[in-house]
Amino acid sequence: MLNFAVGPVPSADEIRALGAQNVPYFRTPEFSAVMLENERLLCKMAHAPKDSRAVFVTGSGTSAMEAVVTGTLTRDDKALVVDGGSFGHRFRQMLELHEIPHTALELTYGTPLTEADLSPFDGKGYTAFLVNLGETSQGILYDADLIARFCEKNNLFLIVDGISSFLADPFDMEALGAGVLITGAQKALACPPGIAPIVLAPHAVERITNIKAPCMYLDLNALLENGQRGQTPFTPAVSTLIQINKRLQMIEETGGADAEVARTAAVARDFRERAADLPFDMRLVSPSNAVTFLHTRTYSAKHIFQTLKDDYGMWVCPNGGANADTSFRVGHIGCHPLSDNALLVAALFDLKRRGLLTPRK
Ligand SMILES: *Cc1c(COP(=O)(O)O)cnc(C)c1O
Repeated sequence: MLNFAVGPVPSADEIRALGAQNVPYFRTPEFSAVMLENERLLCKMAHAPKDSRAVFVTGSGTSAMEAVVTGTLTRDDKALVVDGGSFGHRFRQMLELHEIPHTALELTYGTPLTEADLSPFDGKGYTAFLVNLGETSQGILYDADLIARFCEKNNLFLIVDGISSFLADPFDMEALGAGVLITGAQKALACPPGIAPIVLAPHAVERITNIKAPCMYLDLNALLENGQRGQTPFTPAVSTLIQINKRLQMIEETGGADAEVARTAAVARDFRERAADLPFDMRLVSPSNAVTFLHTRTYSAKHIFQTLKDDYGMWVCPNGGANADTSFRVGHIGCHPLSDNALLVAALFDLKRRGLLTPRK
């Protein structure tokens, strides 16, 4: 199967080969060295400020979002959260669940964040800002500089969910003044799911130290403390961490994070050029390199997903909710040579030629 989902995504052969090995015992100096290198390389690739830390939550990306919401915010905070798609909405639900005072900045789904969206919240006593820099569900990348300026002016603690955008879109944690960057193994890191790395600037570590975690498993203080010696409080997804180590080394050897972002950008550009004559509207206002959102006026997106899967051996990424039958997405993260794009676009043209693009009911 050719996989154009936005996670899990195709992994390099070297990463897959590691997955075939027995899982080693991990309370050893050898595994600690792997973890310490993971921390060092992740901080470097995030352009994190000096003395930043990285911790590794065993769980999907959502587990790290929840560890951060509960570990860095309290009921004394007043958070502003961008709700412009299903992942922004998830942050909002967590703030609600954990009773952190907050306001949702609701965007019309599929539109970028603008200065005008932010200005009503200027000087209103907020303490924190939560945003999914890449709102994967809409294929949108928000304007990081705009967010950084607003947060600096209002002295807001900036929490960035970069789960799909880290290593796909440019990111400079120090320049943005972000306190937290949340990532995930199965997006642009292109490893199996199971680990959600979090990069923490020194001012975030300071915040965490003063907050008692309400949950034993997602306790960032315990993760930070154990991480000092390259360990985790509980059994981690050991194999995924070893695969992440290999992947980070491979990125480092081929030019680092910036080169990886450029590579993903080239894959996205190539797809968008090839797909220009297909009977879909691509949403290309402030697009993330990670994914392209395609809208269809007349055809059934569910049927396209199913036919590509069953007749052509390809997964694209279906959408949920109101978008479910009017749109689908094509991912560009993971190990995709440009020839994959050619195969997918040829399959979509073939569907059209065979009369298999069926009208929506
Ligand atoms: C994938 C993703 C997540 C987390 O999803 P999980 O299924 O929990 O790994 C969160 N935020 C964004 C922006 C994502 O793309």
